[in-house]
Formats: sequence, structure tokens, C-alpha cells
Amino acid sequence: MAAVLSKDEAAAAQADSAPLLSVQNLEVEYHTPRGRVRAVDDVSFEIHPNEVFGLAGESGCGKSTIAHAITRILRPPAYIVGGRILFQGMDILQMNEANLRGFRWEHMSIVFQSAMNALNPVITVGTQIIDAIQAHTDMSRSDARQRAKELLNTVGIDPARIDSYPHQLSGGMRQRAVIAIALALNQELIVMDEPTTALDVVVQKQIMQEIRQLKNQFGFSILFITHDLSLLVEFSDRIGIMYAGELVEVAPSKQIFTDPQHPYTIRLMNSFPTVSGPRQRLQGIPGSPPDLITPPPGCRFHPRCDVAIAGRCQEVPPSLLNVGDRHFAACHLLDEKVSHG
Ligand code: SF4
Repeated sequence: MAAVLSKDEAAAAQADSAPLLSVQNLEVEYHTPRGRVRAVDDVSFEIHPNEVFGLAGESGCGKSTIAHAITRILRPPAYIVGGRILFQGMDILQMNEANLRGFRWEHMSIVFQSAMNALNPVITVGTQIIDAIQAHTDMSRSDARQRAKELLNTVGIDPARIDSYPHQLSGGMRQRAVIAIALALNQELIVMDEPTTALDVVVQKQIMQEIRQLKNQFGFSILFITHDLSLLVEFSDRIGIMYAGELVEVAPSKQIFTDPQHPYTIRLMNSFPTVSGPRQRLQGIPGSPPDLITPPPGCRFHPRCDVAIAGRCQEVPPSLLNVGDRHFAACHLLDEKVSHG
């Protein structure tokens, strides 16, 4: 069993380790009757072993599209039109359907918001876990049942509930059962897209704490997507901020929280209440995200940015710059700061 690392030890280990997942220059388009929408535009990031990488941004910014691209479950009218997604060096985008099926279960699993409704209502929870195990291993039925009980126990469900049907469990327990299935094969990466959004805040927090403990115990990595920035900051090791299909800032979550550099990140942080900390007046972000069929030239955030540099931000797209220890941001205000060291 993997040793339990403190958050700082884990962060240091991640910085030195080879990435588990490397998303390189990913481009995804939706082909619509109005034209092509570049929903994900030249996005690159890495997830390291035992790391929780969070993606944040307003709805429609491309974060869920990235989750669907990584798990290769995008369906037309969405198309991956560029880039590579390397998992331990293998390009997921080059895998055929047969390879992909095995890969998805053995190395990567997925928990979506609607997943708890995806449990088969006429099959017991235990049987659903056992079936998942037996489909991908040669474990006997009785050993798989024993493993299913252990998994239920791991996610905080009394193993005696193994023969319960989904409708006999609460919403929180059903989502825990889905997480048990996601953990069934000791996958290295779990993609969680709004995994607890349908649950009440207390259950949400409990489940996220359990997931973090399990991650520290078993050493898997998580791509965590939620619109709830407070939850994201609390549970992620690093965070990427998306705006209009682009990654505009990436940093350890502590720095996103205490020292955000991109004006959009600063606005986003000010529009969410913190889980702990002093009460303060929340500020929204004026305007709304652009129509991606015709995104604004230059920095895509410029029509909403109150510190835009006239004559530059409207014309020149900013590049992601290294502004500190594992901290990157794409904003012209940082150009000078970085070039002058
Ligand atoms: Fe604002 Fe310009 Fe920075 Fe974009 S590049 S966030 S418009 S200051």
C-alpha cells in the first residue's frame, strides 16, 4: 500500500515525477449549423501521479469538453481536430475502439454528475461492481464479491448493503457506489466532472474528503472539474483556469487562491464565497463569455477586462508565461514583469 504523503510532500513528489497524463495542444471543435465552434483551443497541461488537477471556468469554457476528449467519449458534432493526449507516453487519440475499451477501465475511470443515475436500477449495487471487476480481470465470482464488499467499505457504505438495489440507497450513497466502481480496478486516473454537484453541501464535502484520503492511500490521480471554485481550491493540488476555450492560468491551488495573476482569475475568485475565511462582498464578472463562432481578436477576455491595455489587448493574443514556481498566466500585463525578471 502506498505511503500517505502530506500535501506538501505530495506536491514536491509531483513536481519531480514524469507526468501520468500529458495533454498537448488539444483542439476540439463543434460543427454547428451556424459554423465551427473551437470549444478547446490549443490547451496543454499535465497531471502527475497522485495529483488532483482541477479545471475551473464559467460554463461553456471548454472544461467538460476536455474531460470528454481525454476519456474519448466525445460524439459528433464534437471533433478532436488537433493535439495529442499522452497517458504514460501512449497517445489515447491513436487507440482503436478495442484498445480504448480496455484502457478506459484498466487505467482510467470516469465519474460524471449524472453517474449516480446511470446505475442500473434492476441490478444490485454489488452485482454491478462484481460485473465490472470480472469483465476486466480473471477474478472468481466469490473473490470479486469480497472485493466489492471491501470497495463499498472504502467509500463509506456498509458492506452489508451489497445486495441493495440503487433505489434503496440515498443520493449520496449511490454516488459513493459509483465511486466504488470507479476504484474497482485500481485505475491510475479518475476523471471527475461535477462528481458531487447533485448532492447537498455537507455530503459533497464528506465525499470529497473521502476521495482525497483514498487518493493519498492508493496513489491515483484525479482530473477534477466543478463550477464550485471553493471546492476546487480546497481539494486540488493544482488548478487550470479556462476562459473561452483557452487555458489562461495554471498554478498550485494555494497560489490561485492567494496570488492569482490573470484578471479573469482574480474576478472569478472574487465571485465565489470561500469555505472558510472572512465574509466579504462578492463581485461578479461583468458581461458574458464570447460567442466562440467569432471569438474576439487579441485577448479573448478584453471586452470584459477593466485593465485592458488599449491598442495591445484587442490585437495581440497573450501567451502563457512562467510567472513563478509552476505558475503560468497569459496576460499582457505580465509581459513586462516577466521580461524584467
Ligand atoms: Fe486584460 Fe489584456 Fe490581460 Fe487580457 S491580456 S486579461 S485584456 S490585461
